[in-house]
Amino acid sequence: MPGHKIHDTVTIVTTAALAAPAWWVNYHMLGPVTGAAVTWGVIIGGLSNLYLTPDLDQAEGWGCYSFHRMRKLNPLLGAIWQGYWYKYGKMCKHRGLSHTPIVGTLGRVLYGLPWLLPLVLIAFLWWPFAAAWLVGLMWADLWHTIMDGLDKALGGRL
Ligand SMILES: [Zn+2]
Repeated sequence: MPGHKIHDTVTIVTTAALAAPAWWVNYHMLGPVTGAAVTWGVIIGGLSNLYLTPDLDQAEGWGCYSFHRMRKLNPLLGAIWQGYWYKYGKMCKHRGLSHTPIVGTLGRVLYGLPWLLPLVLIAFLWWPFAAAWLVGLMWADLWHTIMDGLDKALGGRL
């Protein structure tokens, strides 16, 4: 699989590439307030992939950089985060359902719902942001899967 630095770089670049036209279109179609909500939703959704990565299907732990990243934020939170996703990793074969566009994202969001409660509250109050967040995450997940496929096609050279 590509190293986390490649995945991180692709996530950041592709999120920015989606956010720029999203800002322009939404600003002109929805107005400045809702346009900004949609744009920020796309940006935060895309960057959420750094934690809610399809590689959470690696139950054994250190193969998924999300666990390491969360432990850097806070060791206790990281341990809880890793323990929480352990069952998910056991249920999902690596690069299986979790890496399937749209379905994989929705499955991970449903499984991770307790961690996403603030977003659920925002969704009730300001659905354009929450919908854009989901689109941003799906977009970043798609690029993750593309990079995994490219790495496989190149014989693991990424
Ligand atoms: Zn992967």
